Amino acid sequence: MFAPLPDKPDHPALELEILELWEREGTFEQLRERNRGGPTWSFVDGPVTANRFSLGVHTAWGRTLKDVFQRYKALRGFDQRYQNGFDCQGLWIEVGVERSLGLNSKREIEEFGLEEFARRCRDVVVRSSEALTRGSIRLGQWMDWGRDYFTFSDTNIEYIWKFLKILDGRGWLYMGHRSTEWCPRCGTSLSQHELSQAGVYQERSDPSLFVRFPLLDRDGEYVVVWTTTPWTLPANVAAAVHPDAEYGRRENGEWVAVELFPDDAFVERKRGSELVGWRYRGPFDDLPPGSQVEHRVIPWDEVTMDQGTGIVHIAPGCGGEDFELSKVHDLPVLTPVDEAGRFYDEYGWLHGLSTTEAADQIVGRLGETGFLVSAGVYAHPYPHCWRCDTPLIFRLSDDWFISVDEIRPKLLEENARVHWVPEYMGKRMDDWLRNMGDWNISRRRYYGLPLPFYPCACGHLNVVGSKAELAERALGGMEQLEELRRPWIDRVPIRCEQCGEAVTRIPEVGDVWLDAGIVPLATLGWENPEWVPEGYAAGAAKGLTTADLPDHAYWEKWFPADWVSEMREQIRLWFYSQFFMAVALVGRSPYRRVLGYEKMLDEHGREMHASWGNTIPAEDAFAQMGADVMRWQYCAQPPDRNLLFGFGPAHEIKRRLLTFWNSVKFLVDYANIEGFEPSWERFEAEDAELRALDRWLVERTKQLVAEATDAYEATLTVDVVRAFESFVDDVSNWYIRRSRRRFYSFDEAAFRTLWYALVQSLRTVAPIMPFLADHLWRNLVQDGPASVHLAGWPDADEPDRALLDEIAEVRRIVELGRQARATSQLKLRQPLRRLVVAGASAAAESHVDEIADELRVKEVGFAQVEASELRVKPNLPKLGPKLGPKLAQIRSALAAGDFTELDDGRFQVNGVVLEADEVLVERVGREGWSVATDGLLTVALDTSLDDELRLEGRLLDRVHEVNVLRKESGLEITDRIRLWLPDGELIARYRERIADETLALELHEGELRVEKI
Ligand SMILES: [Zn+2]
Ligand SMILES: [Zn+2]
Repeated sequence: MFAPLPDKPDHPALELEILELWEREGTFEQLRERNRGGPTWSFVDGPVTANRFSLGVHTAWGRTLKDVFQRYKALRGFDQRYQNGFDCQGLWIEVGVERSLGLNSKREIEEFGLEEFARRCRDVVVRSSEALTRGSIRLGQWMDWGRDYFTFSDTNIEYIWKFLKILDGRGWLYMGHRSTEWCPRCGTSLSQHELSQAGVYQERSDPSLFVRFPLLDRDGEYVVVWTTTPWTLPANVAAAVHPDAEYGRRENGEWVAVELFPDDAFVERKRGSELVGWRYRGPFDDLPPGSQVEHRVIPWDEVTMDQGTGIVHIAPGCGGEDFELSKVHDLPVLTPVDEAGRFYDEYGWLHGLSTTEAADQIVGRLGETGFLVSAGVYAHPYPHCWRCDTPLIFRLSDDWFISVDEIRPKLLEENARVHWVPEYMGKRMDDWLRNMGDWNISRRRYYGLPLPFYPCACGHLNVVGSKAELAERALGGMEQLEELRRPWIDRVPIRCEQCGEAVTRIPEVGDVWLDAGIVPLATLGWENPEWVPEGYAAGAAKGLTTADLPDHAYWEKWFPADWVSEMREQIRLWFYSQFFMAVALVGRSPYRRVLGYEKMLDEHGREMHASWGNTIPAEDAFAQMGADVMRWQYCAQPPDRNLLFGFGPAHEIKRRLLTFWNSVKFLVDYANIEGFEPSWERFEAEDAELRALDRWLVERTKQLVAEATDAYEATLTVDVVRAFESFVDDVSNWYIRRSRRRFYSFDEAAFRTLWYALVQSLRTVAPIMPFLADHLWRNLVQDGPASVHLAGWPDADEPDRALLDEIAEVRRIVELGRQARATSQLKLRQPLRRLVVAGASAAAESHVDEIADELRVKEVGFAQVEASELRVKPNLPKLGPKLGPKLAQIRSALAAGDFTELDDGRFQVNGVVLEADEVLVERVGREGWSVATDGLLTVALDTSLDDELRLEGRLLDRVHEVNVLRKESGLEITDRIRLWLPDGELIARYRERIADETLALELHEGELRVEKI
C-alpha cells in the first residue's frame, strides 16, 4: 500500500519532516560514506560574509546551485569536499558594529577601544554564522556544518602573510603615493576591483561650474575651465590644453576650444601649443596653499573635446590622472582634505568643512571674486562607497600595492584554460586581466588581516611570513597576542633583519579579497608538512569550527577545484583574487570550471531594497513557498539573465509541480484500489506485456534521463527544469490520459510502466528539489534504497528516437486539432465527423485511432488539405529589395491565387520562385472547415454537425454532468450507483455507454440524481 496523498503538497510541512528524517537516518553521512574513495570531484566554496543575521534569498540562490551540483555528483558516486566558508573581516563587519554602537568616525572607534571593538566584530561573525547555517540547512544544503573555514582564523591569516612574503621576495610589493578613490566616511582608499561592485556607480547631481582664470601676462584675458567638483578648485595648480586643438578668444577675453563652441565668434585663434606656458591667477590664491603656486597652462594629449571647454582644471592632490601629470610637469601637489574628507586648517575659511558642505560656499565666493562664468547642475553616474554609500572623493594617499605587470601574461594564459559558463563571463575576466592596474591591498581600518609590513628607517622593508617567524623576531608582546589582529599585533615590535633596530608594524589592514582569495591554498593545506587536527580553529576562529588544516598531500588531491560558482560580480572579486593568488603561488588556476550567474531582482524587475519594502527574507520564503519551490525558481533561471524572484513566480511553479503531484497521486490512488505492489528488484526488468504506449513511456523516460544528464554535465539547471516539465506534460497529458481505463481495470503493465517513469523522474530532479523528491520516493519505493539521494544516478541509455519522434508528431497533430476546434468555437465534447491531416509522416498514420479519440472525430484522413484556402502574401522587407519594380506584378498574381505551391514552403509565381521566408502564408478554412497549421503540418476539422453528432454531444455533456455530481456527492471513484436521467432518447440510444462511463448499475428516466449502491 502507498500512503494516500492529499490534493496538493504542503511543501513547508513535508520539508521539515524530511529534514528530520535525514537527521535521524544520517542520510548525508551514509551518502558520503558510500562515495568515500570514489573518483573525486572538487568543489571549493566561496565564503559568505558573516554580517547578516538571517539567510537572504540572494544568498540562497548561490547556495542552491552549489548544493544541486554537489548532490548530482554525489548521486554519480563522486567523493567530494563539503566545506562551507565564512568571510569574517573587513568593512562589511565593521560597519554593522559601528552602527550598533552609534560610532561615526575612526576617531570614535579608537576612543571606544580597539580591543573591545574587535570582540564586538567577532560576536557579529559568531551570531551571523549560526543564523546562516540554520538558514542553509533549512534550504536543504548538505555541507559539513561545524567544520567550516572562517577567514579570520590565524591559519588563514598566516597563509596570506606567506603569500605576501613570497611576493616581496619577487619585488612585487611597493608603497605607492598616489591619488586614489577615497571614502571620507570610512577614512580609507578603495581598490579598483571594489569600484567594480554592483551599486558603486549611482546617478548623482553635482554642480556644473564654468570658471575663468585671469591670465597674468595678457590683461583682460582668461582661460575658462569646467568642473563638477568645486571642492577641488582650492587645490588647482594648472590648466591643461590639447596641444593640437584650436582655441579661440571671445570678445570678452575668454579662451576656450573652438570645436566646443562652434556658434561663438572669436576675435583671435591659436593652437593649444601656443597657450602652453601662460601663467594665470588661481581661484583661491588668497588662501595660503594657493598663494604659493605658480599656476600655468600645460599640454596634455588626453584632453577631450566632448564636453567642458577643452581646457581642463588640474588638481594633482584630487585626481588620479592629475597626479600623474604632476610628475611629468613637476607640478606642486596640494592635498586639501584630511582622511575624513574635511579641509585642513591652512584652507582658512574652508577649514573643517566636508567636500559637499564646501561646495556652496566655494561657488558663492567665485561669484564674488569674478571667477565664476556660470553655474548649473550636472547629473552623471558617480562612484559611491560600496559599504556605506558615501560619495567617493579622490585623495592623495600612501597605499601598498602588488604590481601586476609581470604576472599578467601568465594570468591571461591560465584564464584561457578555464571553462566559463556562460562563456561571456570568461571574456569579462580576460578584459579585466588585460586592463586592471596594480592591486591596492592596504586599508586604513581595524578589523582585518594585519599586513605584516615593518618598514625600517634603514630603508629595509621587513615582511613577516608566519606566526613562528613573528615569535622569533619579536622584541616583546607575544604573551598578550590573542589573535593575529589589531590591537594585539600592534604591540609586537620586531627587530629589523637588516640593521637590527626595533621596528613596528604599519597600522594598515589588508583588502578583504586577500582573505577569500587564499582559500584554495589555505583550506587545502598547501605546503603544510603535517596534518593539524582542528588546525583552522586558531585565533578568532577558536571555538567556532573543528576544521582541520590538512597537509600538502591533501592539497595535491583536491587542487584545483573542478568547479566553483558565484554571481557575475565576483569575476573581479573572488574569482579574481583567488585566481591571482593561486597563479602567483603555484602557477595554476585554482578552478577548472566556473558557473556564474546574473543578478536577482524582484518579480517586477526592480532592485530589491529593504527601504523599498520589496526584499524577501528567506524565512518568509521557506514558510510561504517552501525550499523546493525556491530552489526550482533559482534553477529554472538561465544564468545569463537576471532572476526576477518572488511569490508570483513561486505560485506559477507550484501550479506546474501540481501536475506532477497529480500524476503521482493518480498512480497512488488506483494502485491502492487495485492492489498494485511494485517491486524494486524488477525495476528495470524487460517486460513482454507492455503495449505500444507503455514502450513509448519507457523510451520517453530514458530521454528524460539523457537530457537531464547532459544538462547537469553542462551545469545548466534551466535545461533540467525544461526537460522535466516537458516530461511531466507527456506523462500527464498523454500517457495517463490515453491509459486511464487500463488503471480502472487492473492492467499491471500500465501500473508498472507509470511507476517506473515516475520513480525514474524523481531521481532526475532530486538534486533540484531534494525534499519533494525524497518525500515521494519514500512512498513509491518501499523495498529499495531508503532515500532517493542514496539511489544513485540512473543509467542514461540511448532512447529509441524514432519512436519518440513518432509520438511527438502525433501529439502535435492532436494539439493542432485542438487549436482548430478552439477557433471554430465548438465545445470540446462535441463529436465531429472528420479530420484531415496534411504534411504528416507515414509513421503518424498508424495512430489514427488515438488521434480520432483525442479529438472526438469519427474519421481521420491523411491527404492534401483541400478543405482550406491558401493565402500567400509577399514578405515585403525581403521581397521588395529582391524584386524591385517587378514586385507589383507578383503581388497581384499572389492576391489572385495565381501561384503553384512547391516543396519546402516555396512558391512559384509567373516563373519566379519565392523562398519560404519571402512569403507570408495563411491557411483559412473554407466554409464548414476549421484549419490550423504549424510549419508543414496542417489539420482541417469538418465542423458541420448532423443530428447524430448532436445527440452524441448531448450524451457526453450528460456523462460529464453525472460525473461532476458523483464527485460533489462525495462518492469514491469506484463506487457503483443508481442513476436517474431526464432524457429518455439518450437512455434508449446509449444505455450501455452511459452505464459504463458513470459506473451505473441501474439507469432510470427522471430528475437528475445519483444514489450509491
Ligand atoms: Zn565608506
Ligand atoms: Zn633596518
